[in-house]
Amino acid sequence: MHTNTNWLIRNAAAILTGLCGDQARHAGPDIRIVDGRIAALGPLTPEPGEQLIDARDCVVYPAWVNTHHHLFQSLLKGEPQGLNQTLTPWLAATPYRFRGAFDEDSFRLAARVGLVELVRSGCGTVADHHYLYYPDMPFDGAAILFEEAEALGVRFVLCRGGATQTRQLEAELPQALRPERFDAYLADVERLVANYHDPAGDAWRRVVMAPTTALHSTSPEELRESADVARRLGIRLHSHLSETVDYLDAARARFGMTPVQFCAEQGWVGSDVWFAHLVKLLPEEIRLLGETGTGIASCPQSNGRLGSGIADLPALEAAGVTVSLGVDGAASNEAADMQSEAHAAWLLQRARKGERAQPRYDGGAFEGGADAARIEDVLRWGTAGGARVLGLDAVGTLQVGQAADLAIYRLDDPRYFGLHDPAIGPIASGGRAYLQALLVGGRRVVEDDRIPGLDMAELGRRSREAVARLIQRAEAAA
Ligand SMILES: [Zn+2]
Repeated sequence: MHTNTNWLIRNAAAILTGLCGDQARHAGPDIRIVDGRIAALGPLTPEPGEQLIDARDCVVYPAWVNTHHHLFQSLLKGEPQGLNQTLTPWLAATPYRFRGAFDEDSFRLAARVGLVELVRSGCGTVADHHYLYYPDMPFDGAAILFEEAEALGVRFVLCRGGATQTRQLEAELPQALRPERFDAYLADVERLVANYHDPAGDAWRRVVMAPTTALHSTSPEELRESADVARRLGIRLHSHLSETVDYLDAARARFGMTPVQFCAEQGWVGSDVWFAHLVKLLPEEIRLLGETGTGIASCPQSNGRLGSGIADLPALEAAGVTVSLGVDGAASNEAADMQSEAHAAWLLQRARKGERAQPRYDGGAFEGGADAARIEDVLRWGTAGGARVLGLDAVGTLQVGQAADLAIYRLDDPRYFGLHDPAIGPIASGGRAYLQALLVGGRRVVEDDRIPGLDMAELGRRSREAVARLIQRAEAAA
């Protein structure tokens, strides 16, 4: 994936860097890229051999880093049986009901649809929580995911999911959906690490230990051992946690503690751990996550779609938690792209705070929540924060020496016309901005809003056919 093209991005209208405070914006207006790295920012003059990208009227962001997804769900959008269900019945109605319906072709197609959708929003790094595993799997999903990501030219972090413990939901499902043996799970993680894992700060491929849910998918003993093995292998840890109130009930009933406390007991907190969701947390859990530097992949659209709630990101960040954004699987997010996700995070964090506003006669101290999240905060969560939870230190910010992963948006849709500050457009105005270019590691992945070599109409046709086949298979298996 090496490139020798050197670029000069010229005359950007605005540059957001993914950094904090005064450094959140750079005046540019030019960015030089040499050997896949950012070599200079400022007023620059072209040098021989450089290719020019005209960024007039464009806004430049770091490429987004998506820290939680289930790509196989990209063919399960808006599935009617699960559309109006909360998390637990939705799991049964949609992702679990369709698990056995996927074959190698439909799995690959789903991964491609999800990755293409992300890339077109300006995403350059994807962490997929891939949990479609059962004993004697008929295809190697991990290999397919790595292949599809490489074909598009994005960085890919495989969070190796899976369950080694049967839940009621799974016990009722057919043989093909049974949990794995723990030794087989660990052996596969070791195989994946040997075959794919690169510890470099600008790695194209990473592997993560990621049992599907810390609370339900394994025994406490297995969870502890999985943490020990991950740290011996030098890989990170990821899982779902505290997506709904059900986690609090389950942890109290089974272990007499909070979900975060339970994870801490098994070694599942720390700066090498990040959890998806963390919507329903008690104050002491926020403290513990912060003190240990644990990370969050917040998925506001999925949490909204399933009616789970809204994670308190300002409180988590103030406590010391690294905040990042994930789109989550498209079975619970019909817009699984990073621009939509960031837009939703911006609005929902403000609405969340506003929901707590009280009249002054009742002790209220503020009118609304517009200070809960600025555009620069949301961008930082979706870029630098993501890179940090994934341990990709050379990614996520626009600074000299960093990998040249950047999205150049042209705001030529009426929704952006009239903006006083174009820098905020791609997040504040919602929708999908025209992607003048997406560079990942200095390689051009999107050019003039197109992915070279991709037949979008064909992808759409194949997706419609695949959805019909998946429905047939799920119904036949019922
Ligand atoms: Zn998820």
